[in-house]
Amino acid sequence: MNTIATDATETAQPAQADGVLLRAEHLKKFFPVKGHDEAGNPLVLKAVDDVSFEIGRGETLGLVGESGCGKTTTGRLLLRLIEPTAGNLHLGDSPDLYKIPQRQWLPYRRRVQMIFQDPYSSLNPRMSIGSIVGEALVIHGLAKGRRAERVAELLEDCGLPADTANRYPHELSGGQRQRVGVARALAVEPELIIADEPVSALDVSIQAQIINLLEDLRARHGLAYLFIAHDLSVVGHISHRVAVMYLGKIVELGPTREVFTNPLHPYTEALLQAVPKMDPRGGGKKIMLEGDVPSPINPPSGCPFHPRCPKATPECSTYVPQLQEVEPGHWVSCCLCVQREVEKRNSK
Ligand code: SF4
Repeated sequence: MNTIATDATETAQPAQADGVLLRAEHLKKFFPVKGHDEAGNPLVLKAVDDVSFEIGRGETLGLVGESGCGKTTTGRLLLRLIEPTAGNLHLGDSPDLYKIPQRQWLPYRRRVQMIFQDPYSSLNPRMSIGSIVGEALVIHGLAKGRRAERVAELLEDCGLPADTANRYPHELSGGQRQRVGVARALAVEPELIIADEPVSALDVSIQAQIINLLEDLRARHGLAYLFIAHDLSVVGHISHRVAVMYLGKIVELGPTREVFTNPLHPYTEALLQAVPKMDPRGGGKKIMLEGDVPSPINPPSGCPFHPRCPKATPECSTYVPQLQEVEPGHWVSCCLCVQREVEKRNSK
């Protein structure tokens, strides 16, 4: 099969002029589970299986896919909330951060923060909002002598009145709580925020407000985001580039506009076609995904998408496609798509 010549071990590159902020290479996270396979080897659940990507300074990278595809595990690996099975991680020109003992991670934790999905359970109900937002200032020894003032600034920066500091989480709405979660993440002036489904627990009208807040903060503070979501319309709105995950692997990565208007991988096509449209008549022939996502404990041979792929050929069940760059900055892991792009290029 003809393929575009490329080193499959390369890291998918960002299209950012401001330089690379974070580089994750060959991340793997396997969880042991009970039982053995036919060969007698212990079973493992491959939540993240050889994922590489970069995030540029000031860039928003969207990470999308169905539940259980490994998005959240990837986000947690970047914060080392869980230990990787393999891979390495660099922030700026740092050495491999996984080789640094956890107790020496404090400076890195200041540079990378997280916003959680659930604005209800992610705030301690026994702590005032002021204590919640100010906690990281205490841990990192910041804003000494003016912490209350700094907390007030952070709350106002996130669209909340300064006196919210005296209230408790149960007194706030879901949207207000998520603003508190954003203020808490901003307290240590991070460079990168991992936003794990930050709006999926909110009403649609509130979702737009939080997305606009995140965009505004990015522009004002030069933040970068890894924006994890299953809702493609939200990701399309906020991300510069988007990475699509399936069964623990990135199957397509590229500039958002290009991936949304010219999706190459059949899985990306199917996800985009599942987004509700204003005009239900439009669109032509649709790809319908059948069946559930296979178990990551016993993933299919060859291309992991082949049991559900409407374009699969017999070859797809044996050949393992690699993520390859078919257009500048546009990567895909599908032998047919790569073949098609090669033919298109050769015919020009
Ligand atoms: Fe479908 Fe085959 Fe491409 Fe996998 S490699 S996405 S099964 S066409």
